[in-house]
Amino acid sequence: MSESEKVHCSFCGKNKQDTNILIAGHSAHICDLCIQQAHEIVKEDIVAKKSFLEEFQLLKPKKINAYLDDFVIGQNDVKKIISVAVYNHYKRILHLEKDQDNIEIEKSNIIMVGRTGTGKTLIAKTIAKLLNVPFCIADATVLTEAGYVGEDVESILTRLLQAADYDVKKAERGIVFIDEIDKIARRSDNPSITRDVSGEGVQQAMLKLLEGTVVNVPPQGGRKHPDQKMIALNTNNILFISGGAFDGIEQHISKRMNTRSIGFRTIKENDLDSQNLLKYVSPIDLKAFGLIPELIGRMPVVSYLDPLDREALKRILIEPKNALVKQYQKLFEIEGVVLTFDRKAIDLIVDKAMEFNLGARGLRSICETIMLDLMYEAPSEESKKEIKITAAYAKNQISKLSFSKLDAA
Ligand code: ADP
Repeated sequence: MSESEKVHCSFCGKNKQDTNILIAGHSAHICDLCIQQAHEIVKEDIVAKKSFLEEFQLLKPKKINAYLDDFVIGQNDVKKIISVAVYNHYKRILHLEKDQDNIEIEKSNIIMVGRTGTGKTLIAKTIAKLLNVPFCIADATVLTEAGYVGEDVESILTRLLQAADYDVKKAERGIVFIDEIDKIARRSDNPSITRDVSGEGVQQAMLKLLEGTVVNVPPQGGRKHPDQKMIALNTNNILFISGGAFDGIEQHISKRMNTRSIGFRTIKENDLDSQNLLKYVSPIDLKAFGLIPELIGRMPVVSYLDPLDREALKRILIEPKNALVKQYQKLFEIEGVVLTFDRKAIDLIVDKAMEFNLGARGLRSICETIMLDLMYEAPSEESKKEIKITAAYAKNQISKLSFSKLDAA
């Protein structure tokens, strides 16, 4: 073998005669194919790095709010607060990527207080959809301190990774909704000496996550796969939105308000909306409820949701872009059937939902009950082109089901 034939590509090992071009370096060689591959890798990496900056459209708070309006009825205060918080959050990320100065804008994680079924999850989900960032919902009730039966707090991030198709960069800019955050409150205001497995320990474990740290995330989640290779995820730019009903927090609010002023002004007794004390919720009340100050400090944006009255429930049923009534109409339209709801039928559904006291959540189960037989039969009845849901039909359908026992209650 001649000297020149011995020369080979230092990357793939191919001999010189098997390559088109072999370029010599200081003490190595590279072939044309390896150059091409290396070029692809560099190109992809540059695109990946640039993509967030270039593709991400930073929407102004008013735009975010207007989008929320299409899907979420009422809840104007929280929509405004969250639009600003989300705008600031992503502005902060873009600022971090562009600037190297030392002014660090802090994260604006959010906590929402409001009864079940009033739109907390819906708001978080809608924002993630608008921004086109990965989104996941984590249930705080299943979380425990490491070492206890249940899920470690890191499991929250497993879901986010899954939502991002394991694209770490994408996941690192996602939104996590932590539901039922109130369920990890300390059981009493007095710090107990005994260990509180479900409460304070979990809150402690969550601190780092919320603040921003590199967490080793089990890609398959849980402890069932002890051999899995962990994925490092930086939570610095992940937006955490948490929500909870905080049943009974009104007591703390009213106690505080009777004794102190809120913010800069004192609210006079008769200015107080005593039917909806939640609107005055403050970090102090969250602490009194049993969240630890460190956790509250890491979720500096506090807001509330109004309970849904009759009018709101009615609007929810028919107005939003994907309102339930519109969804059923679409389902039937695909079948070639025009579906309409009588005004009285709508009123009946709303009345029932008010009875169930499950916020807008009740609407869905009531509608499913009413629509089940029709959804079962319509696909086989090709001649039927129009269906009208009357109050009498709705009432009859509801009465067939066991949850109409609530009638008697
Ligand atoms: P929670 O406050 O318990 O997180 P959700 O956001 O999950 O409640 O609401 C349950 C369902 O009720 C939503 O999927 C949505 O269809 C409906 N809903 C609740 N609140 C609203 C609202 N303000 N506007 C429109 N739909 C709502």
